[in-house]
Amino acid sequence: MSLLDRYEEVVGHQEVQCLRHLGERLAGKRVVHVNSTRTGGGVAEILGWMAPLMQELGIDARWEVLTAPPEFYRVTKAFHNGLQGRAVSLKKRDYELHYEVNRQNAQRLNLEADVVFVHDPQPIYLPAFTPEGQVARWVWRCHIDASQPDRGVWKYLEGAIPHYQAAVFSMPAFARSLPCPMFVSPPSIDPLSEKNCPIPEQERLEALSRFMIDPNRPLLLQVSRFDRFKDPLGVLEAYRLLKPYYPELQLALAGGPADDDPEAADVLRDVLDQAAGDPNVKILMLPPDAHRTINILQRSAVVVLQKSLKEGFGLTVTEALWKGKPVIGGACGGITLQVHDYHTGFLVHSPAGAAYRIRYLLRYAEKRQRMGQNGHDFVREHFLLTRHLRDYLNVLLCLDRPEPDVLVV
Ligand code: UDP
Repeated sequence: MSLLDRYEEVVGHQEVQCLRHLGERLAGKRVVHVNSTRTGGGVAEILGWMAPLMQELGIDARWEVLTAPPEFYRVTKAFHNGLQGRAVSLKKRDYELHYEVNRQNAQRLNLEADVVFVHDPQPIYLPAFTPEGQVARWVWRCHIDASQPDRGVWKYLEGAIPHYQAAVFSMPAFARSLPCPMFVSPPSIDPLSEKNCPIPEQERLEALSRFMIDPNRPLLLQVSRFDRFKDPLGVLEAYRLLKPYYPELQLALAGGPADDDPEAADVLRDVLDQAAGDPNVKILMLPPDAHRTINILQRSAVVVLQKSLKEGFGLTVTEALWKGKPVIGGACGGITLQVHDYHTGFLVHSPAGAAYRIRYLLRYAEKRQRMGQNGHDFVREHFLLTRHLRDYLNVLLCLDRPEPDVLVV
């Protein structure tokens, strides 16, 4: 069975047929994706399925990855923070290192293509060093909220933009106004991956018992890195406000170790302090490949929280909605695209607000179920990988058209 046939079982014949039709018009086109890592992070996950699915549609798609010294990633992490609006101080030599790594990679990588998608700022200067005629069109695919960047970082990155014929952002609010056609395409999840596939009941129960979570009592869950912007302490506060009314309530905060994030240890320590002495609160440190475990926790929760104070897209929200769970989300970033009051969950601005909405959902099982079903349908329609692939195919088709200003939303 082909990959697309497997997705057809989830998204339906029409959606896959549409991809095949678009693919026919793009058959033989040479497309290259370039990013900075083959594993870890959402971009790598997306490219892992994007290139094979494009190939199945007859597109000559490839995925190339930068090679760079560790120092380069310190600089590009600062770019990432800077694009998201944090003030960063980089030296001239940092920018020079970035430029030089791009120059070397332009020589090393096989970029011969009709269209190259350059993902995020790490490889953004590749077009400056690629011989004329090797690449017909360049597309900058920015996965980061670049709407209010640090001035210095943007000034440097902006220099690369004239090389591009188009840019793609995850949501309109994340975009900068650029002098090229801009497209909007939000991220997506893979419904057949370990993180999102159906789980046998026996396996689910065994995993819960390993974590000493009672499958018969309500479980609240937040899955996220231990980061202040994810507000785990706010989640604990909301739980504590509810405890007097629901003594049987359980809370799980699941995250992973982040050796590269010096703040994570502090946040985790605060969380452990706050949770100490309550056997109904589980702080779970999971390995990076614990996709099935996260899947199980999300399927076992009665309500999923993502009480972020600042957020990119919030794939954890998509994952939870896909599993039929209403989500209580902080009203920021991509969470606002996914969580709609009384439809797929509730947007909140405080721990008290979160507690209030959780109470509502605990009280009304029927509404909870209906909202969960809405969430699942909403993700099926908007945030599965087939829609994402369709967006990219449309970008490719639009690039072949003469009209310069086409916006696909
Ligand atoms: N995730 C994970 N292990 C963890 C924490 C998160 O696998 O310990 C996954 C989570 O399921 C989701 C992604 O990492 O797929 C996080 O993406 P999101 O957009 O929610 O937040 P980010 O971490 O990118 O800010």
